[in-house]
Amino acid sequence: MDKENSRGSSSGDDRIDRGLDLLRHMQIDSLTLSEIVDRIEMISSDPAITRSILEQATTHGILSRENGSIRKGVHHPGATAEPTVEQRTGEYQCRRCGSSLKKGYFLVLDSGEMGPFGPTCVTYLTGRDDYWDIIFLSPSH
Ligand SMILES: [Zn+2]
Repeated sequence: MDKENSRGSSSGDDRIDRGLDLLRHMQIDSLTLSEIVDRIEMISSDPAITRSILEQATTHGILSRENGSIRKGVHHPGATAEPTVEQRTGEYQCRRCGSSLKKGYFLVLDSGEMGPFGPTCVTYLTGRDDYWDIIFLSPSH
């Protein structure tokens, strides 16, 4: 009945794939390590997983380290992708800050969805503040 999502990848942990996916969809040029780790912790609070995500992101050119800060590897094909955010009405609780929501924002990644988040937290995660337009200029209220 319930199909486990068990594609036999060699790394054996889809949290790493999800972490890389999240980093790829972040529209943020430059971050400190702690800012990145804070976001990766949405996927895993395991320091070993966090380290693997960071290492692989660097290997794949999604991130590059420069003078103590970390930059998106914008020059590498596939290193960046437009984030897609879906808005759904319902009783939700923000996965990041725990606030209760009447609308949930879901970050749609290739590896699956993340959410729900409130508007502030989805902006924080994606680095895209133009979602505020979508969120607050929606035609109906
Ligand atoms: Zn939140």
